Amino acid sequence: MPRDSKSRTSDPQNISLTNESSSSERPSHFVENALWDQPSYYRVLRRSHPANTIVGVRGVAVGGTELTIMAGPCAVESPQQLIAAAEHAAAGGAHLLRGGAFKLRTSPYSFSGLGEAALKLLSEARRVSGLPIVTEVVDEESVLLAAAHADMLQIGTRNMHNYVLLKQAAATGKPILLKRGMAATLEEFLNAAEYIMAAGNDQVVLCERGIRTFSDFTRNTLDLNIVPALKQLSHLPVITDPSHGTGRRDLVAPMARASIAAGADGVLLEMHPDPEKALSDGYQSLDPDEFTELVSDLARLAPIVGRTLSVRGK
Ligand code: PEP
Ligand code: MN
Repeated sequence: MPRDSKSRTSDPQNISLTNESSSSERPSHFVENALWDQPSYYRVLRRSHPANTIVGVRGVAVGGTELTIMAGPCAVESPQQLIAAAEHAAAGGAHLLRGGAFKLRTSPYSFSGLGEAALKLLSEARRVSGLPIVTEVVDEESVLLAAAHADMLQIGTRNMHNYVLLKQAAATGKPILLKRGMAATLEEFLNAAEYIMAAGNDQVVLCERGIRTFSDFTRNTLDLNIVPALKQLSHLPVITDPSHGTGRRDLVAPMARASIAAGADGVLLEMHPDPEKALSDGYQSLDPDEFTELVSDLARLAPIVGRTLSVRGK
C-alpha cells in the first residue's frame, strides 16, 4: 500500500518515492519503476542510503570487500559434533559459525533441535573456535533465549512473512540474517527487511536460499537472478545459501562459486563433521574437506570480482 502524503511528509528521512517526481527522473529499471508507484518500503533502498551497509557481527564485517563465509551444521546435535564442526569451520576459513538450536522441520516427527541446551553449546563453540555464532529464532521465547547467547539471529524461510517475529527479533538489536521466503517475490523480501529496519534495526543481511519452482531435480532452485537485482536496489548485504538452494551436496560448490561471481557478499554453507550421520540435512552438507576446498576456491575467485577472502584458519 502506498504511504499517504501525511506519513510521507512526517518521514524523518523525507524520502519521496512516489509520482511526486517528474517521470524524467524515474530510473528506467522495471522493478524500480514498480517501486516508484508503490513505495511500501524505502529504508532498504539504495536510493535512501547509497553506500553499502556493512553489518557488524561481533567484529566480523558483512558486506564489505571481504567475502563472508558462514558455516556449520544444520542442527546442533551434541557437544562432540558441534565442537568438531566449529574447529573445522575455523580451520577451513569460516568467519561465522552457524548452527540450529530450534529447527522447523517439514515432518513433526523429525529432530527439532536441542533448544536452549544447543545455545549453551554454541556459546562454548564460540569460545573454542573464536567464531561469532548465528542461530535461527522461531518464536518469541527463542528470540529471548537466543539473544542471550548468539551474535546474529536468523529468520528462516518459513518465517519471512511472520511480521510479529521480525519485529521481536529486530528489537533485540542483534544483527539479523533474513532468509527469503521460499515463494517470496523480491518486493515481499524487501518488505520483510523493511519491517526489521522500521523497528529500528538496520543490521540486516539478506539471504537467497532457493525458491519453489517446477524443477524437481533439486530441493529448491537457487535464484541467482535476485542477487544482482538486490544489490542494485538495496544497500543491504546479500548472501546465498547454496545448501538449501540445491539440497544436493554435489551442487553446493558450483553454486557457491556462481553466487560469488554474481556479486553475493558471502555464502552460508551447511557443513557437518560426518554428514552421513547428520540428524538434519546431511544430504546437502559438505564434509570438512569439501568445505575447506570450496573456501580456497572462493579465495581464488574473490579478486576476479574485486573482493578478498583471506583464509585465516590455516
Ligand atoms: C536452515 O538454515 O537450516 C534452514 C532451515 O533454512 P531455511 O529456513 O532456508 O529452510
Ligand atoms: Mn538445514
